[in-house]
Amino acid sequence: MSILSERRTETRFTDYKAAWGIDQAMAEAHRCLYCFDAPCISQCPSAVNVPEFIRRIATENHQGAADLVLADNPLGMSCSRVCPVEVLCAGSCVLPDLGLPAIQIGRLQRFVTDMALDNGWVFGERAPSTGKRIALVGAGPSVLACAWYLGRLGHETVIFEKDRLLGGLNTTAIAPYKMKADRSIQEAEYLVAGSGAEVRFGVEVGVDLPWAELDRDFDAVFVGVGLGPDRLMKRLPGSDLAGIEGAVDFIGQIKTREIDLRGLERTVVIGGGNTAVDLTRELIELSVPVVSLIYRRDQANMKGYQHEWEAAVKGGAKAHWRTTPVGFIGTGRVEGVQCVRLDEDLVPIDGSDFVVPADRVFVAIGQSRLGDLLEQLPGIEAPGGLVQVDEHGFTGRAGWYAGGDCVNGGKEVVNAAAEGKAAAHAIHQHLNG
Ligand SMILES: Cc1cc2nc3c(=O)[nH]c(=O)nc-3n(C[C@H](O)[C@H](O)[C@H](O)COP(=O)(O)OP(=O)(O)OC[C@H]3O[C@@H](n4cnc5c(N)ncnc54)[C@H](O)[C@@H]3O)c2cc1C
Repeated sequence: MSILSERRTETRFTDYKAAWGIDQAMAEAHRCLYCFDAPCISQCPSAVNVPEFIRRIATENHQGAADLVLADNPLGMSCSRVCPVEVLCAGSCVLPDLGLPAIQIGRLQRFVTDMALDNGWVFGERAPSTGKRIALVGAGPSVLACAWYLGRLGHETVIFEKDRLLGGLNTTAIAPYKMKADRSIQEAEYLVAGSGAEVRFGVEVGVDLPWAELDRDFDAVFVGVGLGPDRLMKRLPGSDLAGIEGAVDFIGQIKTREIDLRGLERTVVIGGGNTAVDLTRELIELSVPVVSLIYRRDQANMKGYQHEWEAAVKGGAKAHWRTTPVGFIGTGRVEGVQCVRLDEDLVPIDGSDFVVPADRVFVAIGQSRLGDLLEQLPGIEAPGGLVQVDEHGFTGRAGWYAGGDCVNGGKEVVNAAAEGKAAAHAIHQHLNG
């Protein structure tokens, strides 16, 4: 099923948190205090029972540990690698209050979920068929989680995916030093097989298939279409010059194909969120000589995680804080970014213009929203391009649910998985009257 190039550029990256063997996992598992009112559970959007799965590792019950993780989060293998554990589960560990390092929950979770996927362990049986059919739109984490629970509850599911890859942004956008695309696809295939879902690739719902047909042919619908393409700075002079491109699009190229790194000498990344920081780190790991970030706020107020930015700085990244681009210069191809500095109120400072030389510019100021597509959803509110739902993913229209980035505006894989799970249980209840 995979159409990934064997020579894709992401294969040049090594894991920044190497996998653990049994001795390291056992030693770490024995450090856990197995807190009764564990904050690591409440900090996890998927509410993984962290102390209990770690206790099972400590007693060498690896299958039991994997079963527990995957019961709460079927994307537990991805999340063990890509979750910002420093601000979620591990960030709430009580051990630092005692002057000890937090438990490395992600690495322990990876230890058992890798084992489960590599050995093909599937826990529990699928319930007998209910005869109900649910359409799921998109093949990213929200849909995969939703399909998994619905399938295990005995429902028939059909996933419509406009592209040819499973996993959505989990496959095409995650920094390759955290997880490679083939690993995301391996997990997605495991979930599709275990849920019995049928996948129809190359179907863009709303374009190739009207939403109304889903209404007619299915008992319920889950919408997990994510966000749209990169927003670009199209209003700035020179924005059409060659060499200026969207960051998510470029990361997708690194992840799926072999890219030509020639001409990547002086690069500029515009933005201060996690996509900007990830790409900065990726360019540095690809040995690009000059990597500069341009951001309109200062470091303390960037949205990207500080620990990730600090890793980029260690690799040689430089930043122009409180700076904004006002145009791009060059003849045919970009040669530099024309910038001005901003004062504390983010107002341009007169006479502060300067040029950052660049032969490639990556715009990382956020993804657009799929407003035009979501406006077509029959009788469903999607103001500002985000579908309105209650805490179960219910849109207010009988049988229609949504979750993931197209609802939350762009969070993490673990949020998309949790929202897909909540919607699956709500759909099950709805179909059972
Ligand atoms: C650069 C970048 C780095 C990230 N890094 C991390 C990270 O380190 N850790 C983390 O937890 N999260 C990270 N995220 C966020 C995470 O990837 C997303 O939150 C998550 O993938 C959202 O899942 P989703 O199912 O909502 O949507 P998506 O993953 O976006 O999947 C949506 C799917 O729907 C398909 N689709 C869209 N429209 C249609 C249509 N009309 N018909 C059929 N199919 C359609 C798309 O092709 C896509 O496959 C990152 C995101 C980006 C952009």
